[in-house]
Formats: sequence, structure tokens, C-alpha cells
Amino acid sequence: MFAKVVVPVPLNHPFTYSIPDGLAVPVGSRVVVPFGPRTLVGACVGHTDERPKGTLKAVQRVLDPEPAFSPALIELSRWIADYYFSSWGEALMAALPAPVRRTGARRYENVARLAVSPEEARKKIEELRATNSKWSQVLEVLADSVEPVAVNDLLERLSISDSPVATLVKKGLVAIDRRQIDAEDPLLAHPASTTPPPEPNPEQELAVGTIIAASGGFKPFLLYGVTGSGKTEVYLRVIAQAVAAGKRALVLVPEIALTPQTISRFSARFKRIAVMHHRLTEAQRADQWRRIKAGEADVVIGARSAVFAPLPDLGVIVVDEEHEPSYKAGNEPRYHARDVAVKRAQLEKAVVVLGSATPSLESWRNAKEGRYTLLQLTQRVMDRPLPPVEIVDMAQERGFKGKVPLLSRKLEEMVKLVSAKGEQTILFLNRRGFAPALYCPSCKYVLRCGHCEVAMTFHKKRNVAICHHCNSEVEPPVLCPACKLPGIKFLGLGTERVEEEIRAMFGDASVARMDRDTTRARGSHARILAAVADGTTDILIGTQMVAKGHDVPNVTLVGVINGDIGYSINDFRSGERTFQLIAQVAGRAGRGILPGHVIVQTINPTVSAIVLAAKHDFFTFADQEMAFRREWIWPPFCRLLRLVVSAPTPDDAQGACTAAVELARPRLGPEASLLLGPEPAPIPFLRDQHRWNAAFRAKSWETLWKVVNACSKLKDTWKKVSWTWDMDANDML
Ligand code: ADP
Ligand code: ZN
Repeated sequence: MFAKVVVPVPLNHPFTYSIPDGLAVPVGSRVVVPFGPRTLVGACVGHTDERPKGTLKAVQRVLDPEPAFSPALIELSRWIADYYFSSWGEALMAALPAPVRRTGARRYENVARLAVSPEEARKKIEELRATNSKWSQVLEVLADSVEPVAVNDLLERLSISDSPVATLVKKGLVAIDRRQIDAEDPLLAHPASTTPPPEPNPEQELAVGTIIAASGGFKPFLLYGVTGSGKTEVYLRVIAQAVAAGKRALVLVPEIALTPQTISRFSARFKRIAVMHHRLTEAQRADQWRRIKAGEADVVIGARSAVFAPLPDLGVIVVDEEHEPSYKAGNEPRYHARDVAVKRAQLEKAVVVLGSATPSLESWRNAKEGRYTLLQLTQRVMDRPLPPVEIVDMAQERGFKGKVPLLSRKLEEMVKLVSAKGEQTILFLNRRGFAPALYCPSCKYVLRCGHCEVAMTFHKKRNVAICHHCNSEVEPPVLCPACKLPGIKFLGLGTERVEEEIRAMFGDASVARMDRDTTRARGSHARILAAVADGTTDILIGTQMVAKGHDVPNVTLVGVINGDIGYSINDFRSGERTFQLIAQVAGRAGRGILPGHVIVQTINPTVSAIVLAAKHDFFTFADQEMAFRREWIWPPFCRLLRLVVSAPTPDDAQGACTAAVELARPRLGPEASLLLGPEPAPIPFLRDQHRWNAAFRAKSWETLWKVVNACSKLKDTWKKVSWTWDMDANDML
């Protein structure tokens, strides 16, 4: 008997190893094997009695006495590796949370805390920023956090090595303690709500009945339901039936929608639940994984990578907000969790429910053509109306010197009105920081990141300019670095500026902001939402974090500060994204007894994605968008494969990308006419690498496979470049 082992190298087939006498190598367990000059951790994916030719190396060690991967997960990772052109070994390892991969069962962990007073730390933060921004970032996180922070989490959150922390310890600013790992999930400690479940309305009943009738086998559903139509109630009832039948359920939600409120809606109905997401500590994540694997949870709720949660007897998979771009992984393997969920359901013979108020065009077409069964919730619950959405043309609002104000007259008046009644407002702007550009009016210089070809964003509270692509930070210049004149201006709007101006405008109101910057400390996300839920906060300002995963009945006004952000000529999905964002934020208004209002500010009041989102008219939007995609041949009317070539020099990037396109051309046949590129990527320089890209479109996956396969030999010629093949690419930058 020999073991077939996959290792995390860019090859998608297994290697055969001999098994030493007395060693048991179960299929699905991780093993240590020699690989060329290296020793790697791989996984046994099968046994064979066929001895390959040549000398054979032996498995050195078995890491998991019990298999870490079920046969279905092994099969799933094989499909991912094939479909997304990635390595089987890497795809399989991606199915294991990092903490489980790194460590076995640990009982203690290192935690960091400030060794000086918070005031002193604040002073040091300013001082150290110029010397080493990592030091100041570490101090900032610790100063913001009420409790000590696990060192591993700190490193992961800031993407740093442990050396900055070690230096701060030497400097006497930070102390490290050892503490017993607390594996309890803080989110699960949230009190379960006690309100009795609502009676389903006829549409919900029909949806639940249809799904339950199909359970016991594989069947995909698309649940289209307007915001506030009670999709979650459908999920809960379907899951309850599955659990009663001895099955288990997996629920995927976008990371930012994974709020205590979301979880408590499930913990109110099911006792044995587990959660998997990145706000947990490493130890907690490892612990949740073990519980899930042992079958101790009937329902698992998690973000993208939870699609690999090792539940036995999977009966139902739910993918909520299936249209969310965050379901597509940004690193190898570049899988789309929704599509992986459907594949997994097929392998495990489970039903899969994709839910959304604004389905992706891909899923919509699958439903239209009968591959998915379409279920519809066309009304909000209790006959509540969808909120009226008013579009305000900001060109009409220009004041003195043609300046566009933050709030239109209409929105300002409405905020006043709503606050006076004791109701709440959400103001949405999908851009964090104070201002997205630092600009010199004298010579038109724009401050750009030294590592990327992008403008840096000014963050006022911290007084830094940050690159939102590589996170590098610099002190904002006082004099223009180009013409040496003073007067650098902060151009444009970010949530931080909105907060400042709103506080100035509405002095009596209690204002809060929720974006990535205000939610860094553990628990802060939940705290902000709790203050909205209990009515403390009058006006909540935020990025798309405010658009998802919460249901506050007293929010009666939603203002979209700038409906135009996100519209990019480089992305054929711009219209879809704009429609989705506006429809989703608008969906936060008027979810209770009180009617809601939505105001969308834009300088493009006639763009059809905006007009139709304002009418809550998904059907017309989908028809128009589908016609556009069909005519110009974009997904779902073709498969899209994007290639990004990055290299230290522009010549290498251009040369390698051009060589790839030339190799690809003959393999594409008539579809070569659909080729885009080679050309510099929309972000032509990122993290010190020059980037060129190309996009290949074809009806069949096999054609694209031929392209990738033909180009694989270029690796030997172009040694300094790195190749990113992104199947079903979402990110076009
Ligand atoms: P969606 O996910 O479609 O936006 P939710 O599932 O969040 O909608 O439901 C909105 C609210 O309506 C929730 O508070 C939920 O408890 C409540 N709800 C769901 N179904 C019903 C029903 N049939 N009758 C009354 N209330 C309901
Ligand atoms: Zn950068």
C-alpha cells in the first residue's frame, strides 16, 4: 500500500510515498514528507497499491491521528484546484483554519499590554511614527484595547512580524504575559433573544415547503427576497427541519454582516451552534473548528472560509447575500465561496439556498435557466412598505464658488426632522478616512504612495496619510514636496470628515461612526451596533459596514452621501455594484412599524442603476444588465479569466504579459477577438511591483484551461515575474 499525498506547491496532482511499517496513514490526515530538498506538510488524499517507477520516498510523520479532512472535503479541494487553476495541496490546506494548521492543542498563549500609562503611550505613538510606523501601530492597538491582546492576533491584524513587538518590549513600552487560552466565543455569550418565532406568511411558507420537500438530496435554490422580507426566517425553518432529521447546517454570511445580532437570531432557535470568523482569537478559532468537527454543533455560522467547516452529516447550506464580492477569495486559491458552496452541497447531497435582495447576474441567470430553483419573497413582512427613495441631483446644490455641500438641503432638513422625532439616521459613504487625496493647489501635485501608483488617504485623527492598498503610512507634508509651497489641501470626502462635519452641524445629536478604523479593537463593532440598537446613537455614519447584518426598527432615514462612488469604467460590474449598494443601504430604513425614507445624493441622477435601485426594481435592472452583458459578452455570458503579471520592472511585466497573450491567442480560436490586453493594469504599480494584465473570455472552461496550461511553461523563461490567474475574476483593478 502506498500513500497519495498532495503538498502545497503549485502543482495539482498527488505524489506517491511509501508507508513505513507500523505507521498508519489514514486518508485525510496531514503528513510530513520529504519533497526535493525540502520537508513539507501535505495531506494523504488516497491509497494505491500501484508502485510508481523510480525510487520512492517515505512518509516521515503523521500529524493527525484522526483525519483532518473528510472524503467530501478532499474531493471539494480537488475541484477547487482544477477549476481555479490552483494547487491541490494549497486548496486543501486552505480548508484548515490557520490556527489549526499552525498549532496543535495549546493551553497557553502570549498576550501583550501597555507597560506604560495610556497617556504616555499616546505621546510615544506620535514620537515613534516618524521612526517606525509599525511600532506606533502596535502601541495604538494596545492603547485602544481595554484588554490585553493575544500576540498572534496582533501580528495577524497588523500583518507584521514579531520584531516590532520585541523592540517595544525592550524599550519598556509593552509587556508580555502568558495566559490560559480562553476558548469561549464572546459572540455566543450574547443573550439569546426570547421573542417567539413569527408565523410565516404565505410566500415564506411556500419557500420553506419547497426547500424542505427537496431535502435529503442535492438541490440548489435562489431565494430572491426584498430587504426586510424575512429571508432569515426561511433559513431558520429549513434548518430546524434538517436538525430535527439529524442533519447539520452551514450558514455563510459576509464577514461584516457577522454581527452579534445575526448570531443571536440563530442562537435563539438552536442551542448547539458554532461560529467561524476573523474577529475570534486564534485559540477560539481552533476550538470552534474542533467542536464542529466532533459534531458538537448543529449549525455553523461563518464568513467565506467557513464554506470548508468540517461538519459531519451536512444537510443544508445557506449563502446569505450571495451577491457579495467578499465571497471571492483574494489569495490563492481564488475560490468563490458561493460556487464552492453549491459544489459542496452537490458532493454532500445537501440542499443549498442562496439568498439575496439583489442577486448576482450569475445566479439570476442560473435561476432563469432552471439550474437553480427560484423562490421569491416579494413583500416586506407585515405588509410594511419598502421605503420611498428620493434621488437628489447634487449639481443643483452647488453653492458659493461651485462647491458641492456635504448634505443637500433635502437631506439636511430630513436629518433635523428625524432627530427631532427621536428617530435614527444612517449616513452611508463607502470610503474611509478623512479625505481620499492630499493635493497642492499651486502645482497640482497629488501625494502618492511610494510603493503603489495610488493617491494616499488622509486620516485626520491619527494625522497620517495611508495607502489603502498596501497600508503604508507617511506623515502628511506641510509644504508641497514638489513646489515647496505651503497650502496642501485635503480633497474629497471620507467617513471621518463626514463625522466631523455632521457633529458640527448637529451639535445636540449623538453621532457615531462605523468603519474599519473605528472597529479595530475587539468588541468595538458590537459596541457601536449596540448603541444604535438601544437608541443611544442618533446618527450613525459608516461605510458598507452599516449596510449589512442589522435590523434596527427605529432607523427611519438613510442618506447615501455619494451614490457615485464605486462607478468605475474599468469594471463591467460597476452598474451591478451600484445597484446592490444602494438597494442594500436603502433596505436599512423603515424596517419597523415606523415608515422609512431614503435619500440618495448623486451627480449622475439619470444613471439607470441608481434610478432603478431607487424604485426597488430589481427585475428591470436585471433585464437591462443582462442585455448589456449578453451584447458585450461579459459574465454570465462567458467565463472570465484575468491574468495579472507583476514584476520588479515594467519591462518584465509587459514582456511576460505579452508573451502570455501571444501563446494564448491561437488556443482561443474565434474567441481571440474577445481578448483584452496585454495592457498596464488599472493599478499599474502595487506593493513595489509593476503590473500588466489581460482578460480572457470564452464560452467553455476548457478553452481557458488550455490558455493557462500553455502559459505554464513561461514560468521558466520569466523568472522574476509572478503570475496570478483569477478565474471568474471579481476584482478588475
Ligand atoms: P431580510 O433578511 O429578508 O432582510 P429579515 O429576515 O431580517 O429580512 O426579517 C426582517 C424582520 O422581520 C425580522 O425582525 C424578522 O424577525 C421579522 N419577520 C420575519 N418573518 C416574519 C413574519 N412572517 N411575520 C412577522 N415578522 C417577521
Ligand atoms: Zn501603497
